[in-house]
Amino acid sequence: MSALILVVDDTPANIMLLEAKLTNEYYDVITAIDGFEALKKAREFSPDLILLDVMMPGMDGFETCRKMKEDASISHIPVVMVTALNSVEDRVNGLQAGADDFLTKPIDDAALMARVKSLVRIKALIDELRRRDQTGNEMGVPGQEKNSFTMDVHGSRLLLIDDDIIQSKRILDGMASRFVIEHVSKVDDALKIAQDGAFDCILVSTQLTDVDGLRLSMHMKTKEELRHVPLIIMVDEEERDIMLKGLELGVNDYVSLPVDMNELTARVQTQVRRKKYQDALKSNYQQTISMAITDGLTGLYNRHFLSTHLMNMVKQAQTTGRPMSQVILDVDHFKRVNDTYGHDVGDEVLVKLGKIIVGSIRSADLAARYGGEEFVVLMPETDIIQAADAAERIRIAVEKTPFKVSHAIGELSLTVSVGVSHLRKDGDTPHELHKRADEALYRGKQNGRNQVQLAINEYSNAG
Ligand code: GH3
Ligand code: MG
Ligand code: MG
Repeated sequence: MSALILVVDDTPANIMLLEAKLTNEYYDVITAIDGFEALKKAREFSPDLILLDVMMPGMDGFETCRKMKEDASISHIPVVMVTALNSVEDRVNGLQAGADDFLTKPIDDAALMARVKSLVRIKALIDELRRRDQTGNEMGVPGQEKNSFTMDVHGSRLLLIDDDIIQSKRILDGMASRFVIEHVSKVDDALKIAQDGAFDCILVSTQLTDVDGLRLSMHMKTKEELRHVPLIIMVDEEERDIMLKGLELGVNDYVSLPVDMNELTARVQTQVRRKKYQDALKSNYQQTISMAITDGLTGLYNRHFLSTHLMNMVKQAQTTGRPMSQVILDVDHFKRVNDTYGHDVGDEVLVKLGKIIVGSIRSADLAARYGGEEFVVLMPETDIIQAADAAERIRIAVEKTPFKVSHAIGELSLTVSVGVSHLRKDGDTPHELHKRADEALYRGKQNGRNQVQLAINEYSNAG
């Protein structure tokens, strides 16, 4: 996967070295020689990853990272600090400033590539979610600008899979104030608990007695419910291979044993924030989809969805040779409701009417608001006689329902006229099917309203 990487270092030789290594692996590289230029280029080019030197004159790497994380337009870009410092304290400082990880100088190639690859992969997913969110914004779904770094992680749910009692107790005690943490020491139960628990992050020890922790981690990553749950492995300091292998295979992060609680907390926090950020983008996207296909007033499907669905349903019926029918309903004298009681009462009536329709049909039928005070119901696997029965059922339900409305008006009575058509055997089209139902409806109106009319008699070749 190609990606654009921003390398920031005040020493040109360091830049050249990193640039050579990355270019060699087919990454595209841009560079900056201090924090200010880094911020500018991050905003301008929106790279996939930033490799950030810590010790720089003017603004150091911590400060630069903090500034990047304050800016919602770039806060989602992963940052790896490149540093000669390697105390736990420095690491924690960096993680708290928003860095995803550290690489120590001199840079180890395998560690560099494992990290780059793993973060670029996550960034690609986030980019896709951001694009959808953007489309949603353009379609008018209000998605407030989210900053991935400031997502609230308090009370998030963690799962700890570890059979080392003393170590587990330390982790549980250390994390309890910030997270809700569940502990599994019997590995046999781990997978099921993980799948059922809706966790925001999973910690797995690779030092389990009976099982290979990395294998268990990979197994979890293959499960649909767990694919997007961040997974952190806890690896013995000596087991660098397991750490690299883990990153390669899709583990999100690692921490060395014995665990430093501040570091673990900071890393968990980073992972959970990213997950919350992705969840927020996803939920916004779901909302966009649902807004795009539903009618804002009644919550039924809208006309756009109906048209597409009708084509598919007709195609299916034609392929299988099974019947299908269409019903169109139009409120009788609806204009009077608006004229007498106002548009708001008219709206209330339409909402109620939608509910009556949905309550009168089968779940396989699809109800949509076609426009104004017209509704359509598509009925798969339904011949015209069955559809006529259903239409009559709806008509009676409407006639019998007292429409209670606000403003102390009390109750209104309403009726509907209904047209029904069915798909003919040969050469029928969605358009013709709809037109015939519409014509039948029109006949109902002319004939005195409050009735069901079928598109059947006038056609000699009705199938
Ligand atoms: P008919 O029995 O012939 O169908 O008479 P009608 O008054 O129902 O028919 P017409 O098509 O003349 O008027 C439909 C009315 O529906 C006109 C419009 O103001 C009203 N209408 C359409 N959409 C909405 C809506 O979303 N909310 C409200 N309150 N009224 C609507
Ligand atoms: Mg009407
Ligand atoms: Mg009308």
